[in-house]
Amino acid sequence: MSRLTHSEIHMVHRIGWLRAAVLGANDGIVSTASLVVGVAAAGSGKPEVIVAGLAGLVAGAMSMAAGEYVSVSSQTDAERADLARERRELTEDPEAELDELTAIYAARGLDEDLARQVSVQLTERDALGAHARDELGISETVTARPVQAALVSAATFAIGAVVPLLVALLTPAGAVGTVVAITTLVALVVLGALGATAGGAGLARGAARVLFWGALAMAITAAVGMIFGVAA
Ligand SMILES: [Zn+2]
Repeated sequence: MSRLTHSEIHMVHRIGWLRAAVLGANDGIVSTASLVVGVAAAGSGKPEVIVAGLAGLVAGAMSMAAGEYVSVSSQTDAERADLARERRELTEDPEAELDELTAIYAARGLDEDLARQVSVQLTERDALGAHARDELGISETVTARPVQAALVSAATFAIGAVVPLLVALLTPAGAVGTVVAITTLVALVVLGALGATAGGAGLARGAARVLFWGALAMAITAAVGMIFGVAA
């Protein structure tokens, strides 16, 4: 980790953000397209299909935002609690904390004397920062932003969901299910390849994985739609 250059660290951050965006958009495309294909397969008219797609977009974006907000908030809470406990321990038993830090550096390969020296200097400079970074693996300034994460998650979902919805809007009533299914599969290949590039994985494998699950989701919802459509 410490060998990464400045630009590589930025690249790692960018990749992490891109992967989250691709996953969010993927959720949006698959869940909304499946909904549209399923409702169309039930024999519903175009207005019903569009309303269902729109409801799916809003409901999906809101649930992604809520889920992201809750998970990032609880992560933030846990980080804050860890930091508060660490601050207390540093006040109550600084000697033991110094030993702990020395042990961490020694375990990383420094010889005992050097590990002690480093711990003493870093503790004098910023004890909480050193323990947060090297013991807890978190930065002492909690960086997670739940609201931002929730908004990004909802936005990427909505961007993905707009694709099948727009296609449904522009397609003649009788062909909505088929055209949405085909364009969605094409969009998933592109997204899968993008996600694979972001993650440094093979393009074909990334695209195939997303394509398989997207196709499966649409096939199952179309089957359900057909069953209920016949029953109605
Ligand atoms: Zn500690």
